[in-house]
Amino acid sequence: MTHLRSPFSRIIASFIFISSIVSAQHTCGQQKKKRHHKTAATTDAPVFHFKTVIIDAGHGGKDPGAHGAYSKEKNVTLSIAKKLRTALTEQIPSLNVVMTRTTDNFVELHRRDEIASENKGNLFISIHCNSNAEMPTQDRGVLLLVYGFHRKEEQYEAIRENASIYIEKDYKEQYNGYGSNGAVNAIVLSAFQQKFRKQCISFAELVNKEFKKEDGRHSLGVKEQGVLVLQQSAMPAVLIETGFINNPKDEAYLNSSEGQAEIVQSIIRAIKKYKAELEDNK
Ligand SMILES: [Zn+2]
Repeated sequence: MTHLRSPFSRIIASFIFISSIVSAQHTCGQQKKKRHHKTAATTDAPVFHFKTVIIDAGHGGKDPGAHGAYSKEKNVTLSIAKKLRTALTEQIPSLNVVMTRTTDNFVELHRRDEIASENKGNLFISIHCNSNAEMPTQDRGVLLLVYGFHRKEEQYEAIRENASIYIEKDYKEQYNGYGSNGAVNAIVLSAFQQKFRKQCISFAELVNKEFKKEDGRHSLGVKEQGVLVLQQSAMPAVLIETGFINNPKDEAYLNSSEGQAEIVQSIIRAIKKYKAELEDNK
């Protein structure tokens, strides 16, 4: 929450609408993206390819994000994001991994969105640290935020523009024999949007489970917020609050190589399961 007062917050505010605040206060960040690739344009046995993950290190440059007693969020998120990229590349070599930033630079949210879209991401993972107004705080643990699909027209636009192949495929499967009129398209788009939402929640729950079960982290759970981060999103996206940077124990964990490694491996296990789920089901 602290960094919502920064100049960067004005940019964030232009994208984010908060209709509900969950127990944790941190609402920075960006989000989402959805994309499904089906290569099969003409056959009825389409192959789903989960090919590209976008890793977004929150904040950067002139936007430090939140801070703890001795560390800044922008540095923690970049460190975790880079380690995640390295480990993902090693452990899932078939995956294309794209970062929205690799240095301590300021990247506007709309640019992060463009990077994700240009690279045709299948999943957008935004790494952040939580914080609140207390210093230090007793609050601790992880929180997973998924986008609340409240602004349907914009989402429709994004889906229409960025996932036409997928829509067409679904269209053929589910509405075989119907003409491509506006009403039918609206039904297809609505179904598609619901799929986005389910996939966001599904991935967030997988990550949350790994954090809790494997790492023994306290969790504030998966929250679906009325938050619009990036209006043009067209792929599932999850914002991971990796811990409270203004909680002494969490800050130590977030800055330690052991803690960062645990976070990275939990996210990777979740990606593997999510990827398998998607590819099995489609
Ligand atoms: Zn943040």
